[in-house]
Amino acid sequence: MSEFRYQRLPWQDPQWQLLQQSLAQGRLPHALLLCGPPGLGKESFVLSFAQSLLCTRRAQDGLACGVCRHCQLLESGNHPDLRWLKPDEQGKSGEITIEAIRSLTASASLTAHGGAYKVVAVQPAHRMNSAAANSLLKTLEEPTPRTVIMLLTDQPGRLLPTIRSRCQRVQFLPPDRAEAITWLAEKVTHEDPELLLTLANGAPLRALQLDDSELLKARGEMLSGFLQLPGGRRDPVGLARGWGGFDRKLLLEWLAGWVIDMIRLREGVDSGLLFNRDLAQALQKTADKLNSKALHGYLLQVYTARRSVESNLNPQLALENLLISWRDCGTEAS
Ligand SMILES: [Zn+2]
Repeated sequence: MSEFRYQRLPWQDPQWQLLQQSLAQGRLPHALLLCGPPGLGKESFVLSFAQSLLCTRRAQDGLACGVCRHCQLLESGNHPDLRWLKPDEQGKSGEITIEAIRSLTASASLTAHGGAYKVVAVQPAHRMNSAAANSLLKTLEEPTPRTVIMLLTDQPGRLLPTIRSRCQRVQFLPPDRAEAITWLAEKVTHEDPELLLTLANGAPLRALQLDDSELLKARGEMLSGFLQLPGGRRDPVGLARGWGGFDRKLLLEWLAGWVIDMIRLREGVDSGLLFNRDLAQALQKTADKLNSKALHGYLLQVYTARRSVESNLNPQLALENLLISWRDCGTEAS
């Protein structure tokens, strides 16, 4: 029988120690709120912590044995005592619905299947609609012994305050930069892991996703299309159509990064300190032609679009509007 242990990420030691300590003292909270920016491995933390809870031969430091029946069941991905609640992929709203929460409350009331604990993970927790959130609140008010509910989110402010106050908060932060670069350097093929980390806002797992030459090539091409808009050399609606199939969240993040860098360039910041230092020349050219006020105004629009990206029912129209506004920034400046 082969060993199977979920890998713990080195920068999650403080959170791990905290929970293991509570567990050892018999004070493990029944609800945890795992917060922090995307790309820090909150999901993988849930998996390794759940394995630690479910394993029947866990070591003193909380490490799972990797060989017991529970560890093997986790490896196969269908351990009955670990449940994930995520948005319904078929549903247009992208929400976690009350049906999902009800199925949880029904199963949470059952005793764990032979394991010591039952673990329920809600990801991303801020995508619960209000009926779902209220239903979860009831569960939190009447906790089931040895059931741990883990809410994962990068936007804790969007959860009901009454839910937040019933959870112990476990905060995840981007690791120390040098530590992250060392970790990343062993895993990526890109020659400049530091650039990947910067593009990922310091989140190592996001940086890992960016280690993809096709994706980085697309980024360069998209920037060049974007920079042609203010001069009127490109049609915003056509460009939006061309970008239609692209990951919307990532796209808006890139857009924000480009605009922030142009603002910084206008302020005389050294190009080595930009997010997109590999694209500094192209950004500088456009930044020179625009005024700072227009750039700041546009950045706010990108932020607004980013906030509603998960719930926008007509994302294509939103993107078109965003690109039309960007073209108009050029008209205002001239
Ligand atoms: Zn085990």
